[in-house]
Amino acid sequence: MSTLKAVRGTRDLLPPETALWNRIEATARAVFARYNFGEIRTPVFEDTGLFARSVGEETDIVSKEMYTWEDRARAQSEKTQSLTLRPENTAGVVRAYIEHGLGESGLLQKLYYIGPQFRRERPQKGRYRQFSQIGAEVIGPPSSGSESPLRDAEVLEMLATLLDELGITGWTLELNSVGSTADRARYNDTLRAALAPVVGQMCVDCQRRAVTNPLRVLDCKVPADQPIIETLPVIADSLDDASKAHFAAVLAALDAASVPYTRNHRLVRGLDYYTRTTFEFTHGGLGAQNALLGGGRYDGLSEAIGGPKAPGIGFAMGEDRLVLTLQALEAPQPLVADAFIAPLGENLNAAALVLARELRHQGLWIELGEGSFRLKKSFEAANKTAHTIVILGEDELQSGILTVKTFATGIQTKVPRAELAVFLSKPAGE
Ligand code: ATP
Ligand code: MG
Repeated sequence: MSTLKAVRGTRDLLPPETALWNRIEATARAVFARYNFGEIRTPVFEDTGLFARSVGEETDIVSKEMYTWEDRARAQSEKTQSLTLRPENTAGVVRAYIEHGLGESGLLQKLYYIGPQFRRERPQKGRYRQFSQIGAEVIGPPSSGSESPLRDAEVLEMLATLLDELGITGWTLELNSVGSTADRARYNDTLRAALAPVVGQMCVDCQRRAVTNPLRVLDCKVPADQPIIETLPVIADSLDDASKAHFAAVLAALDAASVPYTRNHRLVRGLDYYTRTTFEFTHGGLGAQNALLGGGRYDGLSEAIGGPKAPGIGFAMGEDRLVLTLQALEAPQPLVADAFIAPLGENLNAAALVLARELRHQGLWIELGEGSFRLKKSFEAANKTAHTIVILGEDELQSGILTVKTFATGIQTKVPRAELAVFLSKPAGE
């Protein structure tokens, strides 16, 4: 039988790397709490129609990347249903917002999520078929102030704070405005006209996009198309006065808060639901997959999936890419216990468990050895897993004085049991 492996594009995350994942999630939760966000957890699979209507039929995600299946009916009365593993989480959050009438309070809803997403993409560094996103949404009825440019600026300022607190230095914030639905329709007409004489020299995808959704041409990654794309008109010139004023207010608030940004006229993002502000944070250390996170405003999304008017703005960070960035910036931290307890003989195993319990209750990280090991074997195991070894023989048990060796200094000392926790909690060498 051939050996079974994790499916292409999926991976196991192992210690000590998982400690970094946990640190990222703990930092994100702490920052979100300070900005008064609450956590939402939506199902990992949803009705396929949700993504078709929100993300958009024309997008790469919906047209080729989703894991979709026809769910079997279990009874005559049940219908089969097309289900999809979520490729992103904004659609699920907005569905939940509508389903639970979260807008009825009249208050702004500020929700964050952390969890796996699924897209059938070509796997490579920083790009997987199961990956994790940390994201947040600010959404509410217009009376809650959800349309205000202050919301955009606050979300961007929060992201700058979060990346700084994670220790990710050297990020770039790229910003654009894709305007209202009407602005985009106008811009699409302008683009269509500008593309007509040149599109024949572009890639087949662009030739299709030029007809179906010219805006998507700006997303093209084919090198040969880039010089042509550079000459196309920019969306900023198609914005109406309200969209222009909104964007100017976002930029003014970012300037006031000293959040650095650059403008990128080509940033239209891969999902159809964006309106007005769109953004990406990138990092040079990531190579080709350089986007750490992306997001934007989606004022019409709720209505597009049958809900009330509920403007909003949100983002999704690629947690896998945050991990890669931090791994490049800092050395991995091995997991090392404060002490390894070595019972001298199997008859001392139970006493060793009691000692380990005592120390663990005092907050120490303890590796519990095994009395059947020879002392040499205990020392070898201890040296690999802990800063110190605590020897528990019959004498130590009776006298209450334990023998402790600190590996960093090579010093062996006798420590009364009552003082052991304090002794072990000092950094090695003190
Ligand atoms: P990209 O241009 O890299 O494909 P995207 O525009 O498809 O990104 P979004 O849908 O906006 O990405 O998702 C937000 C973030 O989620 C991205 O910036 C990225 O960090 C991360 N992400 C997206 N797809 C993947 C993937 N397949 N594997 C790992 N991370 C991903
Ligand atoms: Mg993508």
